[in-house]
Amino acid sequence: MDFTVNDKGFYGEFGGAFVPEMLYPNVKELQDKYLKIINDKEFQSEFRNLLKDYAGRPSPLYYAKRLSEYYKTQIFLKREDLNHTGAHKINNTIGQILLARRLGKTRIIAETGAGQHGVATATVCALMGLKCVVYMGKLDVERQQPNVLRMKMLGAEVIPVYSGNMTLKDATNEAIRDWINNPEDTHYIIGSVVGPHPYPDLVARLQSVISEEIKWQLKEHTGKENPDYIIACVGGGSNAAGAFYHYLNEADVKLVAVEAAGKGVDTGESAATMVLGRPGVLHGSRTMVMQTEDGQIVEPYSISAGLDYPGIGPIHSYLHKTGRAIFEYATDDESLMAAFRLTRLEGIIPALEPAHALALLDKYKFQNNEVVVVILSGRGDKDLSTYIQYMNEVKI
Ligand SMILES: *Cc1c(COP(=O)(O)O)cnc(C)c1O
Repeated sequence: MDFTVNDKGFYGEFGGAFVPEMLYPNVKELQDKYLKIINDKEFQSEFRNLLKDYAGRPSPLYYAKRLSEYYKTQIFLKREDLNHTGAHKINNTIGQILLARRLGKTRIIAETGAGQHGVATATVCALMGLKCVVYMGKLDVERQQPNVLRMKMLGAEVIPVYSGNMTLKDATNEAIRDWINNPEDTHYIIGSVVGPHPYPDLVARLQSVISEEIKWQLKEHTGKENPDYIIACVGGGSNAAGAFYHYLNEADVKLVAVEAAGKGVDTGESAATMVLGRPGVLHGSRTMVMQTEDGQIVEPYSISAGLDYPGIGPIHSYLHKTGRAIFEYATDDESLMAAFRLTRLEGIIPALEPAHALALLDKYKFQNNEVVVVILSGRGDKDLSTYIQYMNEVKI
């Protein structure tokens, strides 16, 4: 079975490029050129060098001994938290800034929710000396002050968006509007495997370095390239797509994606798209979407800002539909517990997002000799105040 995108931009019934006519030329230019550019030898060499010397790759694959003893199985952590700027997002922004330069663009725009993608974008813009504008909902600007300040220090212009609920969805709409008005000089860096074709495929390819590394690193550790499980959290789904990429056709590897259940899937405060959503069009692609009867987007909720998204990348909708990947969820509380468990057993404070992947370790029964790779997509510095508040409440 083929799990990659077809030449029309679809994964089965999902994907495509449903964009307003005025955006068509921008998207078409990318569709026509992205593969040729990113497969070019010179691009690859520049991309690889920056991943190595600037982002700090390969990120370690760490055998977590005490965590393994606790769960009575063999657990490896893919340490994306050790990348420059603290998460996997830098893999994508490095790739896209190199693409933008080859397209002759001089101005970069991005949307951001929690600010992580905004920071990763502002970072590569500083690195390349390109102008950077980041759209961010007014509410998020207030909630995520440290990241707003980081972006400003990096030289980016952060534009607060006052429409709608003043969060990520509204910031995305504003970024699209900007792109329509500035088609000549501007590249729009999307932060996950979402948006119109070719973004989901472009971002998955740039993040696929994660599974490329897991293969040889696991072989060094265990003598085999294939684990029994790969577990990753899913917001839009870019760290999961990158972690699954080179294993899609390895049927013996169970691919597990973990969504944020928030306060519980039945509470109305959740972001578990596969449980609560149905097919629809969001941000230019057909995919699973949390929506009302008449197609209005339902506001998602999660304690983790990076998973707080009402859709999911079209590749994941397809992996779900075909059964190639298993979709699970974890609540706020389960994830907070899992974050403390990792911290106290291994001395690693994870971001709230990958804490959802860690929470799944409590729900599965593993055999003694099974090999489980968990993607630690980011570090927890940004979430410290949430953790401390929880610590005081439940007296950990
Ligand atoms: C943004 C973010 C995520 C969610 O994005 P994906 O595209 O689903 O990977 C997960 N973890 C961290 C640390 C993030 O910053």
